[in-house]
Amino acid sequence: MSEDHSNSATETTTSTTIDAAIVGGGIAGLWLLNLLRRKGYSVLLFEADRIGCGQTLSSQGMIHGGLKYALSGSLTGASEAIASMPARWRDSLSGKGDVDLSGLEPLSDKYYMFAEAGSLGRLTSFFASKLLRGRIQKLAPARFPDGLSDFNGVVYELDDFVLDTQALLERLLEPVCSLVYNARIGAGDLRRTTDGWRLDLGSEAIIARQLILAAGAGTGKLLGELGFKSPRMQLRPLHQVVARHPDLHPLYAHCLTGLTRSEPRITITTHTDRLTDQRWLWYLGGQLATKGADLNSTDQKVRAYRELTTCVPWIDWDKADLQCLRIDRAEPAQDEGKRPDEAYVEAFDHTLVCLPTKLSLAPDLGDRVLARLQPPIEVKDSIALNLPRAGMGTSPWIQ
Ligand SMILES: Cc1cc2nc3c(=O)[nH]c(=O)nc-3n(C[C@H](O)[C@H](O)[C@H](O)COP(=O)(O)OP(=O)(O)OC[C@H]3O[C@@H](n4cnc5c(N)ncnc54)[C@H](O)[C@@H]3O)c2cc1C
Repeated sequence: MSEDHSNSATETTTSTTIDAAIVGGGIAGLWLLNLLRRKGYSVLLFEADRIGCGQTLSSQGMIHGGLKYALSGSLTGASEAIASMPARWRDSLSGKGDVDLSGLEPLSDKYYMFAEAGSLGRLTSFFASKLLRGRIQKLAPARFPDGLSDFNGVVYELDDFVLDTQALLERLLEPVCSLVYNARIGAGDLRRTTDGWRLDLGSEAIIARQLILAAGAGTGKLLGELGFKSPRMQLRPLHQVVARHPDLHPLYAHCLTGLTRSEPRITITTHTDRLTDQRWLWYLGGQLATKGADLNSTDQKVRAYRELTTCVPWIDWDKADLQCLRIDRAEPAQDEGKRPDEAYVEAFDHTLVCLPTKLSLAPDLGDRVLARLQPPIEVKDSIALNLPRAGMGTSPWIQ
């Protein structure tokens, strides 16, 4: 770490040089902070609000190998790029990965797909094909998971699993909490210097050799403020639904009944309900959330009720309490607003723009960032700034 004593009229503070300043405390920022610290980089992270309060705490937490993108009946770029991610995450959960998540228990160790008998068409032979061997397994009724014990159709088991994103972020924060500050970084706080970016933070300043923009939707804003015309970003709106009902059992599954396009009709994850005396709530995405993005919340609830009645007919949905939740996915711009296939890292001018595009792709994001960084500079002391620490956010259904 080196010190720079500036004495111009506008720069009276002493600045410390570090390898990287990360802007944004969602999965991208916290994953990278853990990874880079373990590789010996000096790094600080700045979060404008509470940890995870962008997309990450609203995520369904599925760590998937991309089979849900193969519902057109063929393996796509997206499904292949992501295929190795569940194994990478499992390494981390067992303490063997680049990022240590030991001690973190998944909400569910498996993920399922279910459909009314006879409604899958040619997907039935695709799921049974050699191409998918080892990635998907048709279950006998005796092995249906609890949440599908009253279901009379076909069920497949995938090697995907589900994490509680709040527990995940807490686990990631634990070893690095002294490096995570609460500060909104704006263009006015940033200035390019010969060897990186100067960040003016109240009475203090640091020089970061790399500015890592991991601020989700905030990255687009910051790039604009800084006068960068590219990379361009896109926001994909989602209208998620939270279902509360006294008879819910835990279920982690995509419903594929009567599928008419290559996206699960409903994607279900289950979470502890800390707001009511009911034990579980279901958090619902998939086509329900993408196709419902243009609906107001009253119409979205009507649509959710209709979809649930068709897809999960063994529950009486008249007794349900439904709540809607809007959130945008922040991604690099794609032709016609399509979904990107891989984690995105763009490097320019001592800056890395980082968009994982999916929680599952955090290990891929880490690989791409490491490939673009110079070796770390020598760090002699720990760096402590006179700024407040960033606190943890909470999942949107318990607010
Ligand atoms: C409803 C939903 C469900 C999803 N489900 C899944 C899933 O099941 N599986 C999967 O693989 N992916 C899923 N995803 C995608 C995944 O959640 C996102 O790709 C991922 O969380 C993005 O993380 P991030 O860290 O890039 O951004 P974010 O989580 O949005 O974090 C960005 C952070 O930056 C902060 N920030 C913004 N501007 C500034 C600034 N100027 N200064 C400082 N801080 C700033 C924000 O406050 C925020 O905390 C889902 C996404 C959504 C929206």
